[in-house]
Amino acid sequence: MKKTAALFCALLLIFSVIPTAGAVNKAGIRFYDEAAGLYGPVTQASLVSVVLDGEELALDVPAVTRSDRTMVPVAPIALALGAQVLWVEENRQVILFQGEDTIVLTLGSSVATVNGELISLPDGVSADIAEYGGVERTMVPLLFVSQQLHASVGWDGETYTALVDTTSTATPPEPENTPEPENTPAPETPPAPPAPEVTPPSEIQKTLTGYSVTLDAGHGGWSSGAVYEEIMEKDIDLAVALRAERILKEMGCEVYMIRTDDTFVDIHDRASMANKRGTDIFVSIHSNASTASSSIQGTYTYYCPGSSRGKTLAQCLQTAVTSSAGSRDRGVMQDNLVVVKETSMPAALVELGFMTCHEELMKLADPVYQEKLAWGIALGIEDYLLNKM
Ligand SMILES: [Zn+2]
Repeated sequence: MKKTAALFCALLLIFSVIPTAGAVNKAGIRFYDEAAGLYGPVTQASLVSVVLDGEELALDVPAVTRSDRTMVPVAPIALALGAQVLWVEENRQVILFQGEDTIVLTLGSSVATVNGELISLPDGVSADIAEYGGVERTMVPLLFVSQQLHASVGWDGETYTALVDTTSTATPPEPENTPEPENTPAPETPPAPPAPEVTPPSEIQKTLTGYSVTLDAGHGGWSSGAVYEEIMEKDIDLAVALRAERILKEMGCEVYMIRTDDTFVDIHDRASMANKRGTDIFVSIHSNASTASSSIQGTYTYYCPGSSRGKTLAQCLQTAVTSSAGSRDRGVMQDNLVVVKETSMPAALVELGFMTCHEELMKLADPVYQEKLAWGIALGIEDYLLNKM
């Protein structure tokens, strides 16, 4: 009974740290403000000792309280709890992998993704970079991360010690903090093949005999592109490119593939390979990611600024891909991307969809949807070559 009461008090304390008179050590620490893009002022934060299964964790940037929550450097705690840590600079995200679980924390955001489900961080405390004594570390809320990594956390208010325990049954995550996903029940793993192939819109005619196209599947090899929920962009890009290659060949088109497997090709080389081959057009295939919002979805197509032929090709692709796949039409955009800029023929780069949107990511990983995207690319190419070139 007494033990239960003590545990209850400990849990209360960790949710709301009450400073005890004079006993707490403080340190000057400053947190990076992601929205402002600069460090906030140095604040005197209460130091917290983190004890994991009876042993104190050695931390170069100490655990501290922030808005009544204990913040801890992510790498030492995650590694101590048997998780792998991946830092995605481009998206300002920390991804933790433990067994089947994937936890994504975005700096400056009070919403995390756990196996694709959005979960609000307690008290709206976000993961953030902190600087202490010239050392910078990504700080995450200790309780949230520990619970997600199946450890329980106790609190000793006398000594300001957080007691992380991996041996007892993990504290269940707080269900009241779990908002409903925007749309529907997201499967925990991407839908798996075998999937029925999409029926071609009509019997394939050899409409593109005598024409040639270079297809460029983005990334490859060590360059995985964006990675979300353990799905790599390079794999989506290649899967769609190979399907488009098959369809185009059935249409009689000569198809030159920059890559047909998981190998890395430099972006400048991609352009020069296409130029050397001298195909009629060049189409690059990528998938998108947005750091701004996990709800953004849809297809974009890029062309090189000033290229009217590139713009026309981009419009043909954009229209055909969005109507074939049913994705949101985000229009065509100009960008000085190397592959559209350095290629000598009309060139466009299709961003199939947003990997940062769970719902769209599940589609992008689905072979049925990939086939629809591939048909869109083939039909867009056909429209350009037959009607607009
Ligand atoms: Zn890409």
